[in-house]
Amino acid sequence: MAQNKKLISAIVPCYNEEEAIPFFYEEITRVAAQMESVDFEFIFIDDGSSDKTLEVLREYAQKDARVRYVSFSRNFGKEAAMYAGLEASKGDYVAIMDADLQDPPSLLPEMLGYIENEGYDSVSTRRSNRKGEPPIRSLFARIFYGIINKISKVKMTPGARDFSLMKRRVVDAILSLPEYNRFTKGIFNWVGFKVKWLSYDNIQRVAGKTKWSFWKLFKYSIECIVAFSTAPLALASFFGFLFCFIALIGILVIIIRHFAGVASAAGCASTLCVVLFVGGVQLFCTGILGTYISKTYLETKSRPLYITAETEKDLEENKEENKTEEKEQQQ
Ligand code: UDP
Ligand code: MG
Repeated sequence: MAQNKKLISAIVPCYNEEEAIPFFYEEITRVAAQMESVDFEFIFIDDGSSDKTLEVLREYAQKDARVRYVSFSRNFGKEAAMYAGLEASKGDYVAIMDADLQDPPSLLPEMLGYIENEGYDSVSTRRSNRKGEPPIRSLFARIFYGIINKISKVKMTPGARDFSLMKRRVVDAILSLPEYNRFTKGIFNWVGFKVKWLSYDNIQRVAGKTKWSFWKLFKYSIECIVAFSTAPLALASFFGFLFCFIALIGILVIIIRHFAGVASAAGCASTLCVVLFVGGVQLFCTGILGTYISKTYLETKSRPLYITAETEKDLEENKEENKTEEKEQQQ
């Protein structure tokens, strides 16, 4: 019956996670042992780590045939890592999870239940709270979700995590979007399908440090807005219209004052302020335009999302090479 078992590919992006991986491996193998109806493969993506992540992964790959890894030539970001994992996955179902156990593997049986028994195509997760997070980060997150959900047709769920389990069909749909500026949470929603949402309390990472600085998150949110909405582009037209309107009223006021015999308002300072203000708005709008153009520019280059430096296959090849070398030496 073994060949009838479905395969789950667990994709784990890792950036400097040498401390967290052993905890993760222990937990995922424990859960995998409980889920007897399915087989597992664990695909770790080493996103150009500068610590011993790759060594740790090599070690696990040698010990456990279910462990596979893809090591990038440099840090390409979590989005690229997830894409690489999806591309490498062979499973009937694919799970994406963080290496720091903030996405508890113990939820997998429940998630699989929704897909296998209740007809869902994928199960996504969201944090029900942001316990333990700096308040300023939560505030900006709230503002971000408020804005993006107003200006984008694709709805973003506040607190949504990348942790999800999906059918092969959904994976193929996600892979069919090869865009360079990726915002996976938005892409998940964009592809549609029947999605079950699960909530769970925020969990602190098991070891190591978060890789997301405030600035990185800020850039990521701009990426999302540019990728899923063109509303900011309309701002330029809006400001243009507004200032034309204000200027028209100003002209009318000056003409009326002239004929009424009231001296025209003098004031070099006020004129300067208006000129500066309008100049500022123009530059702001040009900046928005520039952001979209730069993203378009990057897309047209169609550079690959990541470069692979090593996979578990290289490890096997090296082993075979070493063996033949040893044999030759013995002879
Ligand atoms: N990560 C990655 N590349 C990066 C940044 C992060 O692969 O450039 C991985 C990281 O190793 C972890 C996951 O993405 O498995 C989530 O990162 P982290 O836990 O630092 O983010 P947080 O949970 O604090 O939002
Ligand atoms: Mg984390």
